[in-house]
Amino acid sequence: MELQRLDQVIVSSRAELDGLPKQLREADAKLNGARAAVTAAKEAQTQALTRRKKLELDVEEWKIRAKKYREQSGSVKTNEAYKALQHEIANAEAEVAKAEDLVLEQMMALEEVERRVKHVEADLREAEQAIAAEKKQMQVQYGEKKKRMEAATADRAEIAKKVPEELLDLYSRIGKKHPGSALAEAREEQCRACGVRVLPHVLQLLKAETDEEVFRCETCGRILYSLEPIPHAARRESANGAANS
Ligand SMILES: [Zn+2]
Repeated sequence: MELQRLDQVIVSSRAELDGLPKQLREADAKLNGARAAVTAAKEAQTQALTRRKKLELDVEEWKIRAKKYREQSGSVKTNEAYKALQHEIANAEAEVAKAEDLVLEQMMALEEVERRVKHVEADLREAEQAIAAEKKQMQVQYGEKKKRMEAATADRAEIAKKVPEELLDLYSRIGKKHPGSALAEAREEQCRACGVRVLPHVLQLLKAETDEEVFRCETCGRILYSLEPIPHAARRESANGAANS
């Protein structure tokens, strides 16, 4: 039973140790969302900057046109041509005003985008720190589990020496099929591993501490043991009963 207890420690430790790379990948994946948010925000910032520059060029362009019309208006010969130019000047100035409004609007939009960039960058830094701490914790746990497994493996080697060779072979064979569970307790007339009934005479023999024969569950093949007849276990139960009543 001690051998099985150690095997259970080894099996579960190994499963936990094998799970580490996946755990690390999952931790990294948590950062992907935060990274994507930063990329998207920066893209929006670039677009907003480009748009602002374009609008500023529009303002300049209309200003140049208005200036050109004003210069021309000094040298026109007819009243109609003068009027037409005045109209063009007014139009160009209106366009300047319109474009300037758009530049202002765009500057506000840009500020908003820049705030967003700062915000998601802070989120990313926070997530990176949290994940780094999480990974460090994982490494610490990994080290502890590894030690636990190594200790269990060493203890197991010692315990295995004390088990008769034939029984150990049987135990190992069943253990391949049922890792960490080659032994099953027989309790309340059942194999506790598979739930199938254990014959009463087998139970009787299991309870006889002097009996050296090995009994296996007829259904799952595990080696059966019984804790029921051991006197100190019975004493503990009745002691608990007394404490509860
Ligand atoms: Zn069984």
